[in-house]
Amino acid sequence: MGSDASISATLPHGSAQPFAAAEAIKVEALHKSFGQHEVLKGVSISAREGDVVTLIGGSGSGKSTLLRCVNFLETPSSGRILIGGEEVRCRADGTPADRRQIERLRRSLGMVFQQFNLWTHKTVLENLIEVPVHVLGTAKEQAIDRARKLLDRVGLAAKEDAYPAFLSGGQQQRVAIARALCLEPRAMLFDEPTSALDPELVGEVLAVIRSLADEGRTMLLVTHEMKFAREVSDHVVYLYNGLIEEEGPPEQLFGDPKSARLKQFLKSVS
Ligand code: ADP
Ligand code: MG
Repeated sequence: MGSDASISATLPHGSAQPFAAAEAIKVEALHKSFGQHEVLKGVSISAREGDVVTLIGGSGSGKSTLLRCVNFLETPSSGRILIGGEEVRCRADGTPADRRQIERLRRSLGMVFQQFNLWTHKTVLENLIEVPVHVLGTAKEQAIDRARKLLDRVGLAAKEDAYPAFLSGGQQQRVAIARALCLEPRAMLFDEPTSALDPELVGEVLAVIRSLADEGRTMLLVTHEMKFAREVSDHVVYLYNGLIEEEGPPEQLFGDPKSARLKQFLKSVS
């Protein structure tokens, strides 16, 4: 009671809690260096529940590092990361204080990479149930049931017994998306999910991502597919050299960019 009162006393009038419950992902003043090289120089982004927030920017601008920090694959040099309003507890040197918290929060974020990262020696179905059954202790029947629904969802119900090597890149990426969804994540993180695909396979993966956006999934998306980004995003962030150069709704960012660098970037990718 006492601590509740002290928290609410510091809040703007009318706020019920310290962070809006609707904020699925919040990054505040994130800095990340590798040795002497400062890759992120103070980046703040947030995604409310149901938002599609897209990161665009040139190669090396820090997009992947940002996503990897959100998913705790990298430890920020400084700054705050909150998932569902929950802040990662860190030691004085910035490293996470509680591995179990990190693992729990990481599981609440479904990450899909450019390279599909499927287990090559497991079938499609085995790829989907591995973590639910062997890490989370979900009953196998239940995990299989859920996996089949999700395979159906991504149009791959017929492929459950196939090994990844026998699937096209587009099919493998759709399996990777279904696998991430098996963990019932709070949000999805996509890092250039179509960049490794032959052009004719890009559409089928974008269609799955679009369907997730349409059903109100929260996502952070890194993509070079500008037309797609314009269509699905609620908010677009242009990163340049580790800083946000410009951000806004897609119509504004793509239709009426202010920054000369962003204008140049959009020309280069169109
Ligand atoms: P983007 O995804 O926008 O292309 P990255 O986040 O992958 O950019 O990389 C940003 C910069 O950080 C690059 O200069 C890259 O070389 C550097 N970098 C990324 N990861 C590491 C790492 N693990 N060690 C050292 N430098 C890294
Ligand atoms: Mg990258």
